[in-house]
Amino acid sequence: MMMCKEATRLMSRQLDTSLTFQEKLSLKLHLAMCHACSRCNQQFRLLHQTGRHFEILIERHAGTPPHREDDKT
Ligand SMILES: [Zn+2]
Repeated sequence: MMMCKEATRLMSRQLDTSLTFQEKLSLKLHLAMCHACSRCNQQFRLLHQTGRHFEILIERHAGTPPHREDDKT
């Protein structure tokens, strides 16, 4: 049985790169049994999606450096 620590590591890794079949399977199994990690995984995905969306918005502002957006208050 996979530990929560390991599951969390896979969760964040799957956002950047694809996991092996074995890793996906163990993660899925863990998520099905561990409520805490299942919730954590949802947060991870949400954060990742928001990040993606933000990147697209930045790309549309061609010529505007991305860091500039942070200075806006
Ligand atoms: Zn867990």
